[in-house]
Amino acid sequence: MDIQSLSQNFLANWAGFANSVMHPAWGNFFWLLVAASAVAWLLEIAFPWRKQQPLLRRELGLDIFYMFFNMFLFPLVGYATLSAFFAAHIESLSLVQKIRGSISLTALPAYVQLAILFVTRDFLQWNIHRVLHIVPFFWKLHEVHHSPEIMSYPVHLRYHWAENVIYRIPEYLIFLLIGSSLTDVFLIYTISLSIGHLNHANLKLPWGYLKYVFNTSELHLWHHAKQVPRSYGVNFAITLSVWDWLFGTAYSPAEPPAEIGITGEPRFPKSFAGQLVWPWIK
Ligand SMILES: [Zn+2]
Ligand SMILES: [Zn+2]
Repeated sequence: MDIQSLSQNFLANWAGFANSVMHPAWGNFFWLLVAASAVAWLLEIAFPWRKQQPLLRRELGLDIFYMFFNMFLFPLVGYATLSAFFAAHIESLSLVQKIRGSISLTALPAYVQLAILFVTRDFLQWNIHRVLHIVPFFWKLHEVHHSPEIMSYPVHLRYHWAENVIYRIPEYLIFLLIGSSLTDVFLIYTISLSIGHLNHANLKLPWGYLKYVFNTSELHLWHHAKQVPRSYGVNFAITLSVWDWLFGTAYSPAEPPAEIGITGEPRFPKSFAGQLVWPWIK
């Protein structure tokens, strides 16, 4: 591994991140996150589902820190540095070239390519999410996401850093093998970010039949219920709920669960540092 090119990549990624913070613009992920958060927060104020839930809470600062850590500091600066290094080697593998050639979707219209990429990625993420609930060590990592006892939009990006790696490596392979442009990736991330914020918000919107296609705040709150209705849980949807309806893991009562959070973990750490090492010290 060439340390010099790694450190150059790291510094370039850091400079790119600092530049986007300093220059607000559409198409800039930092400000997109700020805008999506502001919209979700205003919607929570206008259409709260649980009206007694306070807008300010003790862990809000920690959750907002997680949001920027998981969205930028870890993936864009740290993980992107390593992945750019490995990507150069993986993309030149003949097996990768062969699979790419056989899948080739370039003859299809751009929006069909985008839809195939979006649906394939989402189905993969739904399966990964189920694995996080079923495999005991992965559940310890995923407990960080399930630990809040008050649900609000910043909980969307409160998760252990290792989930970045667990989700991003298969996602990267999907993008690589199916083929994707930067615009595709940006659009997919924008849609996922917006729906993820909305389905973690304290919000009740008239989704109607769309709840059979898209994950909603009502469905996802039951995913975070303290008393899990079925073993390993329900409603594993990330963006599309259709997988839960198809595979029998959907659960959609009209009322919210009595409590959300995790059970049987009185020692669960309250600090960011404590939560980072929790899966290994539990
Ligand atoms: Zn989960
Ligand atoms: Zn969640």
